[in-house]
Amino acid sequence: AAKTAGGHRWHWFDAEMDRAADAAARLSAELRDAVRGNQLVALYQPIVALPGGAPAGAEVLLRWRHPEQGLLGPDAFIPLAEGNGLIVELGQWVLREAVRQAVDWRDRLGERAPGRISVNVSARQLADPHFVDFVASLLRDSGLAPETLVLEVTETAVLAADTAFDQLHRLKALGLRIALDDFGTGHSSLSLLLDCPVDLLKLDKAFVSGARAGRAADAVARNLIVFTDDFGIDAVAEGVETAEQAARLHEAGYRFAQGYLFGRPVSADALEQMLTVTAVAAA
Ligand code: C2E
Ligand code: MG
Ligand code: MG
Ligand code: MG
Repeated sequence: AAKTAGGHRWHWFDAEMDRAADAAARLSAELRDAVRGNQLVALYQPIVALPGGAPAGAEVLLRWRHPEQGLLGPDAFIPLAEGNGLIVELGQWVLREAVRQAVDWRDRLGERAPGRISVNVSARQLADPHFVDFVASLLRDSGLAPETLVLEVTETAVLAADTAFDQLHRLKALGLRIALDDFGTGHSSLSLLLDCPVDLLKLDKAFVSGARAGRAADAVARNLIVFTDDFGIDAVAEGVETAEQAARLHEAGYRFAQGYLFGRPVSADALEQMLTVTAVAAA
């Protein structure tokens, strides 16, 4: 009897797995139409200077306005896009959109335009042999000052492709900036940092507001800023949610931060509104 029950359970489990796989396959197929069908949305989260919180830039965070499921976050579809190769097309969309928006802000807002626009780049994009040429022509055609653009890559992505270092050097040669994202969650090899042409390091939110934030996380945050200062690399603390966290990070030496305390990811229009309000408040 026990065997029958067990068999039953496995049947049920298999069916659930099949359903999950079907759903993923469907979503993966729908993603193709999303790119062409205007369903992708670029949100912008402010990156600010400490201690005052003055805007210093913005990070582009992708969303998918799914016709039935509503607004989906990257965790729901970026892994699928990496699996089926659509990430290259998706990544091109994000970069084009970010550069178009940056030029628009530059032309209309002048000094109030975000000084830097950060775009996430996945391992698969970095490994794509056409990626550097794509970015180069985008910068050339748009006329955007290259130093306005920041490409965020993770340590994992850098370690995944043996061509990554070469690609990063070629990207740097275009005049843009490279950020190492989610620092502290991967291998966190300091020697990688030294070999990698990186301008900026983003301390992962796990060390700032994550469930494991505490004394050890604090020590990582404090030591990292000493290290980056020594090497002339900028550092941004991610996931800053409270004024207390911001004060502690500033005291440790952080000059830039990003997190819900300063602003959630919002539409380009809403970010522009925030910039205007901040400018008025500062005047
Ligand atoms: P990320 O690049 O590390 O982006 C920061 C993530 O932390 C974002 O999640 C953001 O909404 C969230 N966040 C910001 N402030 C806070 C805070 O104070 N507290 C907490 N708990 N979270 C905060 P999101 O938008 O869900 O993006 C998740 C990840 O998806 C990103 O992590 C990035 O790795 C990836 N991603 C987003 N957009 C793109 C894209 O256009 N291309 C690629 N390849 N990946 C993307
Ligand atoms: Mg990022
Ligand atoms: Mg990050
Ligand atoms: Mg992340």
